[in-house]
Amino acid sequence: MDGATQAEAVREAIRACTERIEEERSYLTDLDSAIGDADHGANMTRGFTAAADRIDGLESEEPAELVKAVGMALLSEVGGASGPLYGGSIVAASGELEEGITAETTVAFAEAYLEKLQERGKASVGDKTMVDALVPAVHTYKKSIEVDGRDPLEALGKAVDAAERGVAFTVPIRASRGRASYLGWRSVGHQDPGATSTLILLETLLSVATDHLDGEVEVDAEAEGKPAEEGDDEGDAGAVEVED
Ligand code: ADP
Ligand code: MG
Repeated sequence: MDGATQAEAVREAIRACTERIEEERSYLTDLDSAIGDADHGANMTRGFTAAADRIDGLESEEPAELVKAVGMALLSEVGGASGPLYGGSIVAASGELEEGITAETTVAFAEAYLEKLQERGKASVGDKTMVDALVPAVHTYKKSIEVDGRDPLEALGKAVDAAERGVAFTVPIRASRGRASYLGWRSVGHQDPGATSTLILLETLLSVATDHLDGEVEVDAEAEGKPAEEGDDEGDAGAVEVED
């Protein structure tokens, strides 16, 4: 993909994320009413609508600039904990995409995003936050590409599966970061809203990437046939072994 095509793909991804977040607004709000203050759906919708508007007004064919603009919009429009976490981490990681979007740059972006988010939020796996979806997703994405030699599309598919298990893992645990932690043991049995929005965004990126990359990426027939399972979830945080 050349620069202009990549920029178009990024724009499409942002529009798709905005639409999907709008669709899931009340679901995210319901999750946040159980263990928070019922604003996660509104926060995410406001942030992504602003992001979509911002990139519409931005004449750039640089994926890094477009992604940075999304982060800036989230930072300035979302008041809750999730705004600075999502927005600040996207802004900080966007520089990794300066050379365009490749397997290598997307791994670097994912790692930088996770690092920044944990630096800001101080949450680890098991605290019942978006980190519980993000850590397994980022580790799985990196391992799928760098160790298993998968293409980015397959790797993203694996990352989405890992994030899904991470979201399920948030249900039975007690929150120790963010607003939900005020509930103590009463937070047990509820799914974390931020982990859920992280999964929703990853699912949307996967569907846009599938539209853009399917057929373009050469699938290694040998790698396809061989059982990928061996040590497949190794990169995941141990805690995320919990499957439903
Ligand atoms: P607020 O909690 O300020 O109302 P939101 O409702 O928009 O903000 O976002 C809540 C989500 O933010 C939580 O479900 C959790 O995933 C995430 N979150 C909160 N605090 C942290 C933190 N310190 N580190 C990582 N994620 C966090
Ligand atoms: Mg909230």
